[in-house]
Amino acid sequence: MSLYGTYDDANIFAKILRGEAPAVKVYEDDEALSFMDIFPQVRGHTLVIPKAVQARNFIELPPERMGAYMQRVQKVTRAVAEGLKPDGVRVMTFNGAASGQTIYHLHFHIYPIWQGAAERPHAAGKQADLAELRALADQIAAAIR
Ligand code: AMP
Repeated sequence: MSLYGTYDDANIFAKILRGEAPAVKVYEDDEALSFMDIFPQVRGHTLVIPKAVQARNFIELPPERMGAYMQRVQKVTRAVAEGLKPDGVRVMTFNGAASGQTIYHLHFHIYPIWQGAAERPHAAGKQADLAELRALADQIAAAIR
């Protein structure tokens, strides 16, 4: 029943927001924080999470926060596209364990797609090299408009 439940502020993204856990940050303002996925499925896999709200998933985000949050998702998606020049970009969010969700603080995944490039499994596999993630984050951040 993970689609339904109570927000747990011990989740890793809440810890990142409180500065209790590290993140390779791409973009931050009062509404949202963007950082690199530490177990990237593709090169440049980036996440965007809303700040100052207890939303476990997309369904729970108060509608009055939706516009500002989605603007940040689009802002980072544009920067991923401009900064990394992929062939395509997938933008998605999972709601509930049955859909693939593993962390219960709302987040959008931004996956750049290069034709023919292999994709690793979701939320699994080995942690990325932090220096490589930082270099990608810098390329994306340089394209934020
Ligand atoms: P989901 O399964 O849709 O909830 O996505 C959670 C994502 O967070 C997965 O793609 C994980 O690889 C990623 N992830 C887990 N822990 C961390 C972390 N400490 N920093 C960055 N990304 C993480």
